[in-house]
Amino acid sequence: MTPTISENLAHAALEINDLTVAYIQQGSQKPALWDVDLRVPEGVLMGIVGPNGAGKSTLIKASLELLPRAAGDVRFFGRSYHQARRQVGYVPQRGSVDWDFPTTVLDVVMMGLYGRMGWVRRPGKPDRARAFQALEQVGLADYADRQISRLSGGQQQRTFLARALVQDAQLYFMDEPFAAVDAVTERAIVELLRQLRQQGKTVIVVHHDLSTVSEYFDQVTLLNREIVASGPVNQVFTDQNLQKAYGGRLNFNVGVGQVGAA
Ligand code: ADP
Ligand code: MG
Repeated sequence: MTPTISENLAHAALEINDLTVAYIQQGSQKPALWDVDLRVPEGVLMGIVGPNGAGKSTLIKASLELLPRAAGDVRFFGRSYHQARRQVGYVPQRGSVDWDFPTTVLDVVMMGLYGRMGWVRRPGKPDRARAFQALEQVGLADYADRQISRLSGGQQQRTFLARALVQDAQLYFMDEPFAAVDAVTERAIVELLRQLRQQGKTVIVVHHDLSTVSEYFDQVTLLNREIVASGPVNQVFTDQNLQKAYGGRLNFNVGVGQVGAA
């Protein structure tokens, strides 16, 4: 059979079409995302920015089928989430997790392997070695046996990143990994993002700090319930688009690089 034109084109790492998501609030449906189209090419670092409540976390959760969609289609490398899920990694917002749960750093990192080895097989020596290697990569080698309740915020974030690394996914979603971390952790995360890109991975990062968007990302999506703009940072990250995304609530100038999102 002759392949069709679309089969000849490389698939995007993520392709979202007509995605609408609504939460039920006080008995009525409130759309948190409205008719979202988004295409993220393979191998880019993509930042997602927009005001609080813009639907950034909702976009990730609906893509990962953690939330029901009112409408729309999401493809990973041309496949459904169900088909592609081992290639898709997720680093949730740190605050959304119960860190008092009695478990060690190493155990949390090993969870990243379960998708591949299944729940029945017990982790073996190579699995533990892989987990230790990931902990080294994020600078936590000395913390493997520590209870997660005894980690600082930055160490918690790096534990999550190590878990994502052992999964060895092709596409990663990270929800505000830089929120409330110290400068050392911030540099470690930036370094990790660059390593992942070098390996050809795609990383989609919800990001708060407008002053570092141009430095950290190749592409940016401005979101406020709808997509305001998406594409290469130098084309899309403009004062005009930022005003559209944040309304009048923003005191930031791309040229000057001063922040102050209200
Ligand atoms: P962001 O991550 O951009 O800050 P969210 O995706 O968390 O925004 O939320 C988008 C909108 O959906 C907000 O108005 C928020 O209040 C609402 N929302 C988020 N989660 C829920 C939920 N579980 N139930 C009801 N409304 C929600
Ligand atoms: Mg959020």
